[in-house]
Amino acid sequence: MLQRNSLAEKPSKVDRQNSLRLKTQDSRLKALVWGLESIVCLILIGCSISHGVYHKVEKGQTLWRIAKAYNVDIQEVAEWNDIADPTEINTGEKIFIPGAWRLLKVEPYKAPEEITGGAEKEKKANGWQAMQRTEEPAGKIVLERWRFAWPVKGSVISPFGMRSGKKHDGIDIAAPEGSAVLAAAEGEIIHSDDSVRGYGNMVILKHKEGFITIYAHNEENLVKTGDVVKRGDVIARLGNTGHSSGPHLHFEVRKDRRPRNPLFFLP
Ligand SMILES: [Zn+2]
Repeated sequence: MLQRNSLAEKPSKVDRQNSLRLKTQDSRLKALVWGLESIVCLILIGCSISHGVYHKVEKGQTLWRIAKAYNVDIQEVAEWNDIADPTEINTGEKIFIPGAWRLLKVEPYKAPEEITGGAEKEKKANGWQAMQRTEEPAGKIVLERWRFAWPVKGSVISPFGMRSGKKHDGIDIAAPEGSAVLAAAEGEIIHSDDSVRGYGNMVILKHKEGFITIYAHNEENLVKTGDVVKRGDVIARLGNTGHSSGPHLHFEVRKDRRPRNPLFFLP
Protein backbone atom coordinates (compact mmCIF):
# COMPACT_ATOMS: atom_id res chain seq x y z
CA MET A 1 0.00 0.00 0.00
CA LEU A 2 2.69 2.34 1.04
CA GLN A 3 4.68 1.32 -2.00
CA ARG A 4 1.71 1.88 -4.35
CA ASN A 5 1.08 5.27 -2.82
CA SER A 6 4.59 6.31 -3.26
CA LEU A 7 4.48 5.00 -6.82
CA ALA A 8 1.23 6.85 -7.46
CA GLU A 9 2.70 9.98 -6.00
CA LYS A 10 5.79 9.87 -8.11
CA PRO A 11 4.38 11.30 -11.35
CA SER A 12 2.73 14.22 -9.61
CA LYS A 13 5.91 14.94 -7.70
CA VAL A 14 7.87 14.85 -10.94
CA ASP A 15 5.19 17.05 -12.55
CA ARG A 16 5.47 19.52 -9.74
CA GLN A 17 9.24 19.48 -10.00
CA ASN A 18 9.04 19.92 -13.77
CA SER A 19 6.61 22.75 -13.47
CA LEU A 20 8.74 24.32 -10.74
CA ARG A 21 11.82 23.87 -12.91
CA LEU A 22 10.03 25.43 -15.88
CA LYS A 23 8.82 28.29 -13.72
CA THR A 24 12.32 28.78 -12.37
CA GLN A 25 13.75 28.64 -15.88
CA ASP A 26 11.11 31.09 -17.04
CA SER A 27 11.86 33.56 -14.27
CA ARG A 28 15.58 33.01 -14.77
CA LEU A 29 15.11 33.77 -18.46
CA LYS A 30 13.07 36.85 -17.61
CA ALA A 31 15.76 37.95 -15.15
CA LEU A 32 18.39 37.30 -17.80
CA VAL A 33 16.54 39.32 -20.43
CA TRP A 34 15.86 42.08 -17.92
CA GLY A 35 19.48 41.86 -16.81
CA LEU A 36 20.73 42.23 -20.36
CA GLU A 37 18.48 45.22 -20.98
CA SER A 38 19.60 46.87 -17.80
CA ILE A 39 23.23 46.06 -18.61
CA VAL A 40 22.86 47.94 -21.90
CA CYS A 41 21.24 50.85 -20.06
CA LEU A 42 23.96 50.73 -17.41
CA ILE A 43 26.62 50.60 -20.10
CA LEU A 44 25.15 53.68 -21.71
CA ILE A 45 24.29 55.79 -18.71
CA GLY A 46 26.26 54.25 -15.86
CA CYS A 47 29.42 55.91 -14.60
CA SER A 48 28.85 59.00 -16.69
CA ILE A 49 29.72 62.35 -15.22
CA SER A 50 27.16 65.00 -16.02
CA HIS A 51 28.51 67.96 -14.10
CA GLY A 52 31.71 69.92 -13.79
CA VAL A 53 33.11 73.44 -13.95
CA TYR A 54 35.15 75.39 -16.47
CA HIS A 55 38.45 76.50 -14.99
CA LYS A 56 40.19 79.42 -16.72
CA VAL A 57 43.93 78.78 -16.80
CA GLU A 58 45.96 81.51 -15.10
CA LYS A 59 49.68 82.18 -15.40
CA GLY A 60 51.76 79.41 -13.85
CA GLN A 61 48.91 76.91 -13.58
CA THR A 62 49.94 73.61 -15.12
CA LEU A 63 47.52 70.83 -15.97
CA TRP A 64 49.05 68.78 -13.17
CA ARG A 65 48.47 71.55 -10.64
CA ILE A 66 44.89 72.09 -11.81
CA ALA A 67 44.06 68.38 -11.64
CA LYS A 68 45.69 68.11 -8.21
CA ALA A 69 43.79 71.11 -6.83
CA TYR A 70 40.47 69.68 -7.97
CA ASN A 71 41.49 66.15 -6.90
CA VAL A 72 40.67 64.78 -10.34
CA ASP A 73 42.78 62.29 -12.27
CA ILE A 74 44.92 64.21 -14.78
CA GLN A 75 44.15 61.53 -17.40
CA GLU A 76 40.43 62.26 -17.04
CA VAL A 77 40.93 66.03 -17.37
CA ALA A 78 43.16 65.44 -20.40
CA GLU A 79 40.62 63.16 -22.13
CA TRP A 80 37.65 65.45 -21.46
CA ASN A 81 39.55 68.38 -22.96
CA ASP A 82 41.34 66.56 -25.77
CA ILE A 83 44.74 67.43 -24.33
CA ALA A 84 47.20 64.75 -25.40
CA ASP A 85 50.21 66.83 -24.35
CA PRO A 86 50.05 68.50 -20.90
CA THR A 87 52.58 71.17 -21.97
CA GLU A 88 50.06 72.44 -24.49
CA ILE A 89 47.79 74.44 -22.24
CA ASN A 90 47.72 78.18 -22.46
CA THR A 91 46.87 81.01 -20.09
CA GLY A 92 43.25 82.04 -20.61
CA GLU A 93 42.21 78.64 -21.91
CA LYS A 94 39.08 77.16 -20.32
CA ILE A 95 39.46 73.61 -19.06
CA PHE A 96 36.47 71.48 -18.14
CA ILE A 97 36.93 69.80 -14.75
CA PRO A 98 34.65 66.73 -14.73
CA GLY A 99 32.90 66.06 -11.44
CA ALA A 100 33.79 69.42 -9.84
CA TRP A 101 31.01 71.46 -8.23
CA ARG A 102 32.75 74.82 -7.81
CA LEU A 103 35.81 76.73 -8.95
CA LEU A 104 38.87 76.28 -6.77
CA LYS A 105 42.09 78.22 -6.25
CA VAL A 106 45.07 76.67 -8.03
CA GLU A 107 48.48 77.58 -6.68
CA PRO A 108 50.60 78.76 -9.65
CA TYR A 109 53.99 77.35 -10.47
CA LYS A 110 56.84 79.74 -9.76
CA ALA A 111 59.90 79.54 -11.99
CA PRO A 112 63.24 79.40 -10.11
CA GLU A 113 64.18 82.90 -11.31
CA GLU A 114 61.02 84.28 -9.69
CA ILE A 115 61.91 82.53 -6.43
CA THR A 116 65.63 83.43 -6.45
CA GLY A 117 64.93 87.00 -7.50
CA GLY A 118 66.01 86.74 -11.11
CA ALA A 119 69.51 85.33 -10.69
CA GLU A 120 69.02 83.02 -13.63
CA LYS A 121 66.87 85.34 -15.67
CA GLU A 122 69.42 85.77 -18.44
CA LYS A 123 69.09 82.09 -19.31
CA LYS A 124 65.54 82.84 -20.52
CA ALA A 125 64.41 79.26 -20.27
CA ASN A 126 60.76 78.81 -21.11
CA GLY A 127 58.33 77.65 -18.45
CA TRP A 128 58.42 74.05 -19.55
CA GLN A 129 62.23 73.77 -19.38
CA ALA A 130 62.19 75.48 -16.02
CA MET A 131 59.57 73.02 -14.85
CA GLN A 132 61.76 70.12 -15.79
CA ARG A 133 64.72 71.65 -13.97
CA THR A 134 62.79 71.97 -10.75
CA GLU A 135 61.09 68.63 -11.27
CA GLU A 136 57.58 70.05 -11.39
CA PRO A 137 55.67 66.96 -12.49
CA ALA A 138 54.14 67.30 -15.93
CA GLY A 139 51.58 64.63 -15.12
CA LYS A 140 51.52 61.40 -16.97
CA ILE A 141 48.97 61.06 -19.75
CA VAL A 142 48.57 57.63 -21.26
CA LEU A 143 47.87 57.27 -24.96
CA GLU A 144 47.09 53.80 -26.26
CA ARG A 145 46.99 54.59 -29.94
CA TRP A 146 47.54 50.94 -30.83
CA ARG A 147 44.51 49.61 -28.99
CA PHE A 148 41.78 50.31 -31.53
CA ALA A 149 41.56 50.83 -35.28
CA TRP A 150 39.38 53.51 -36.90
CA PRO A 151 35.89 52.02 -37.28
CA VAL A 152 35.17 53.99 -40.45
CA LYS A 153 37.02 56.21 -42.89
CA GLY A 154 35.70 59.71 -42.39
CA SER A 155 36.14 62.96 -40.54
CA VAL A 156 35.46 63.64 -36.87
CA ILE A 157 32.64 66.18 -36.84
CA SER A 158 32.04 66.18 -33.09
CA PRO A 159 34.62 65.45 -30.40
CA PHE A 160 34.36 63.72 -27.04
CA GLY A 161 33.53 65.78 -23.96
CA MET A 162 31.31 68.79 -23.38
CA ARG A 163 29.32 69.92 -26.38
CA SER A 164 27.26 73.09 -25.88
CA GLY A 165 26.58 72.31 -22.24
CA LYS A 166 25.86 68.61 -22.80
CA LYS A 167 28.32 65.79 -22.56
CA HIS A 168 29.17 63.64 -25.54
CA ASP A 169 30.35 60.17 -24.57
CA GLY A 170 31.92 59.42 -27.94
CA ILE A 171 33.04 60.94 -31.20
CA ASP A 172 30.96 61.43 -34.34
CA ILE A 173 32.58 60.39 -37.60
CA ALA A 174 30.91 61.56 -40.80
CA ALA A 175 31.05 59.32 -43.87
CA PRO A 176 28.72 58.45 -46.75
CA GLU A 177 25.60 56.46 -45.88
CA GLY A 178 26.24 52.74 -46.31
CA SER A 179 30.00 52.96 -45.59
CA ALA A 180 31.46 49.88 -43.94
CA VAL A 181 31.60 50.12 -40.13
CA LEU A 182 34.50 48.01 -38.89
CA ALA A 183 35.20 46.33 -35.57
CA ALA A 184 37.82 48.48 -33.83
CA ALA A 185 39.39 45.37 -32.30
CA GLU A 186 38.61 41.69 -31.89
CA GLY A 187 35.84 40.81 -29.47
CA GLU A 188 32.34 39.51 -28.88
CA ILE A 189 29.10 41.23 -29.87
CA ILE A 190 27.04 41.77 -26.71
CA HIS A 191 24.26 43.90 -28.23
CA SER A 192 22.91 44.42 -31.73
CA ASP A 193 19.49 46.00 -32.31
CA ASP A 194 17.60 49.30 -32.24
CA SER A 195 16.09 48.92 -28.76
CA VAL A 196 17.87 51.82 -27.09
CA ARG A 197 16.08 55.07 -27.81
CA GLY A 198 18.10 57.66 -29.68
CA TYR A 199 20.93 55.39 -30.72
CA GLY A 200 19.16 53.87 -33.72
CA ASN A 201 20.70 50.58 -34.85
CA MET A 202 23.51 50.02 -32.41
CA VAL A 203 26.22 47.42 -31.95
CA ILE A 204 28.15 46.93 -28.70
CA LEU A 205 31.38 44.99 -28.91
CA LYS A 206 33.14 43.61 -25.82
CA HIS A 207 36.94 43.40 -25.80
CA LYS A 208 39.52 42.17 -23.33
CA GLU A 209 40.64 44.15 -20.27
CA GLY A 210 37.23 45.67 -19.56
CA PHE A 211 36.94 47.63 -22.80
CA ILE A 212 33.82 47.90 -24.94
CA THR A 213 33.23 49.86 -28.14
CA ILE A 214 29.83 51.19 -29.26
CA TYR A 215 28.71 51.86 -32.85
CA ALA A 216 25.42 53.77 -33.21
CA HIS A 217 23.03 55.29 -35.82
CA ASN A 218 23.77 52.42 -38.25
CA GLU A 219 21.72 51.96 -41.38
CA GLU A 220 21.96 48.22 -40.81
CA ASN A 221 23.67 45.95 -38.27
CA LEU A 222 25.41 42.97 -39.89
CA VAL A 223 26.16 41.03 -36.69
CA LYS A 224 24.12 39.48 -33.90
CA THR A 225 24.65 39.07 -30.17
CA GLY A 226 27.14 36.31 -29.47
CA ASP A 227 29.09 36.72 -32.72
CA VAL A 228 32.84 36.80 -32.36
CA VAL A 229 34.59 39.25 -34.66
CA LYS A 230 38.13 40.12 -35.61
CA ARG A 231 39.65 43.60 -35.83
CA GLY A 232 38.57 45.13 -39.13
CA ASP A 233 35.55 42.88 -39.72
CA VAL A 234 32.55 44.68 -41.24
CA ILE A 235 29.91 44.78 -38.49
CA ALA A 236 27.44 47.37 -39.81
CA ARG A 237 26.59 49.87 -42.52
CA LEU A 238 26.87 53.53 -41.54
CA GLY A 239 23.55 55.33 -41.35
CA ASN A 240 21.35 58.03 -39.92
CA THR A 241 19.01 56.13 -37.56
CA GLY A 242 17.92 57.30 -34.10
CA HIS A 243 18.55 60.89 -32.98
CA SER A 244 20.87 61.81 -35.79
CA SER A 245 21.13 64.76 -38.14
CA GLY A 246 22.92 63.33 -41.13
CA PRO A 247 24.84 60.12 -41.84
CA HIS A 248 27.53 59.53 -39.24
CA LEU A 249 28.85 56.95 -36.83
CA HIS A 250 28.63 57.67 -33.12
CA PHE A 251 31.62 55.75 -31.76
CA GLU A 252 32.32 55.19 -28.07
CA VAL A 253 35.14 53.58 -26.16
CA ARG A 254 34.41 52.57 -22.58
CA LYS A 255 36.61 50.95 -19.99
CA ASP A 256 34.84 49.38 -17.02
CA ARG A 257 31.70 51.20 -18.28
CA ARG A 258 33.35 54.62 -18.05
CA PRO A 259 33.33 56.62 -21.30
CA ARG A 260 36.86 57.35 -22.53
CA ASN A 261 38.06 59.70 -25.26
CA PRO A 262 38.27 57.47 -28.38
CA LEU A 263 40.97 59.70 -29.87
CA PHE A 264 43.34 58.59 -27.10
CA PHE A 265 42.98 55.02 -28.35
CA LEU A 266 43.09 55.49 -32.11
CA PRO A 267 46.19 55.75 -34.32
ZN1 LIG B 1 27.62 61.20 -31.10
